[in-house]
Amino acid sequence: MKKVAVIGAGISGLFIANLFKRNEKYQVTIFERNSLIDLKEGYGIQLSVNSIKLLNKIQFDKLENNKKFNPDKINFYSVKNSNKICELNISDFNTESCKYTTLKRSSLIDFLKKDLEKEIKFNHTISTIEQQDQIVKIAFENNEAYEFDYLIISDGVFSKSKNLLSKNQIQPKFNDTLAIRGIIPSSLNISDKKTSHCF
Ligand SMILES: Cc1cc2nc3c(=O)[nH]c(=O)nc-3n(C[C@H](O)[C@H](O)[C@H](O)COP(=O)(O)OP(=O)(O)OC[C@H]3O[C@@H](n4cnc5c(N)ncnc54)[C@H](O)[C@@H]3O)c2cc1C
Repeated sequence: MKKVAVIGAGISGLFIANLFKRNEKYQVTIFERNSLIDLKEGYGIQLSVNSIKLLNKIQFDKLENNKKFNPDKINFYSVKNSNKICELNISDFNTESCKYTTLKRSSLIDFLKKDLEKEIKFNHTISTIEQQDQIVKIAFENNEAYEFDYLIISDGVFSKSKNLLSKNQIQPKFNDTLAIRGIIPSSLNISDKKTSHCF
């Protein structure tokens, strides 16, 4: 059985760990620097048809229907006067089994972590990575060290772990745009329940 280490218990790390968990040729361990996975509610996530196709490989289609929603279109509004600018018919890209989906981010993460309780090691921040022959040796800031056959780095857009491997320091590139996610007050009286709204 090959041993796989996954760095980071975000959406990417949890997803790939679920795939390995379902394959008996692999034993997967996830190392997360935080002490828990934050499931606080507050904002949602929009999932494209492609991501649903991938998630269905780990039975996302079995998630209760009352936890997810398939909007038909996205309306875009002016933030200045709330006038509608345009709409996008996102259901055009749907297939029978894979539909554009929105749900609470906490529901998605809860779904992704539910089969991985034993595989996640919290309070583990990676400090060094060494490769010797076919073995990857990983040490953590708490002085623990482990050996694996494969290493997957999925510690987010501000990844420090990638810099431990790469000769060039990897930095995110910013393009001076800003995305803000919020909750629409019900006083705006948007009644079309099959639509997502962007301001
Ligand atoms: C406001 C906002 C809205 C978004 N909306 C959408 C959306 O609607 N649809 C969509 O598809 N995407 C959306 N995204 C993007 C999406 O959230 C990210 O692409 C996704 O969360 C990235 O997941 P990840 O697992 O790669 O990284 P992360 O979620 O950042 O997870 C990385 C994990 O690694 C851990 N970690 C970091 N460093 C270390 C270390 N050194 N050692 C161990 N562990 C470490 C972190 O604690 C964290 O748990 C949105 C992003 C934002 C900010």
